[in-house]
Amino acid sequence: MRSSRGEKHISGAERLLDFAQLEEAASGMLRRALRHPRGSAETISLTVEAQNLAEVKTKPLLRLMTCEVADWQQGRQCAAELLEATGLNPSLIREAVSQLGAGPSPTGGVMRGAILLDADTGERLEADQSRGVRVSRMDIEPDAHREIERLLSTESLANPRVIEAWVLASKVASYREIIAELCWSDDPDYLTGYVASAKNGYQRITRLKESGSEMGGRIFFVRPAAGLASLIDKLEHEPLLFTAPSGEGT
Ligand code: AMP
Repeated sequence: MRSSRGEKHISGAERLLDFAQLEEAASGMLRRALRHPRGSAETISLTVEAQNLAEVKTKPLLRLMTCEVADWQQGRQCAAELLEATGLNPSLIREAVSQLGAGPSPTGGVMRGAILLDADTGERLEADQSRGVRVSRMDIEPDAHREIERLLSTESLANPRVIEAWVLASKVASYREIIAELCWSDDPDYLTGYVASAKNGYQRITRLKESGSEMGGRIFFVRPAAGLASLIDKLEHEPLLFTAPSGEGT
């Protein structure tokens, strides 16, 4: 689903589910688009596409951790440290964080998808800097729902927003060309963001922006040695379902 008002991106959402759940999921997405904290939508696009179940791979979610911070400044410091722990260059990280805070689209607003940032050169690699790359075709494996909600309920996190971001980050981190991801929401009421990587897992940070700010986005730090086009194609089109994280705890 994608919704907008004029040129302004309002919201988007992606699911990968059984045909029997389609009507319920579609009306949930419509509800969400119509009552979004970024404002009401004028245009809502819903695309439904059949997938061959035999082609859908299953992987475990990243391990989930939460970094509690007092304010967004401390949160951004924490994000920078977590990104550095994945081996990224500190000056590249500073530049990336300020790009996201300032509004990463060419008009200074939010993008519909993510920035692809070359981890060695700092160059932006997405062809359209307003759209970016939209990760799609991922969800929780139906039999794993109960276990994942149980894991999250111990931390009072069992809500669709947390699950969707965790699934998206786990798909992104599953490609070896991706070193890490940084995200905070464009929803003015939602201040939590994360740093995710295959190396160190999904690390939620409780505050990454000021309350009331509509600025947010995602940056994927990449080394696309094997080819940018193939990486973008996998991010946008490869269907993946996720089970509970492997190993102890969340
Ligand atoms: P959200 O977490 O939904 O508030 O989204 C925050 C930002 O992440 C948006 O402004 C987009 O720039 C980006 N984004 C949202 N959904 C996706 C997606 N499926 N793939 C890539 N980037 C996304």
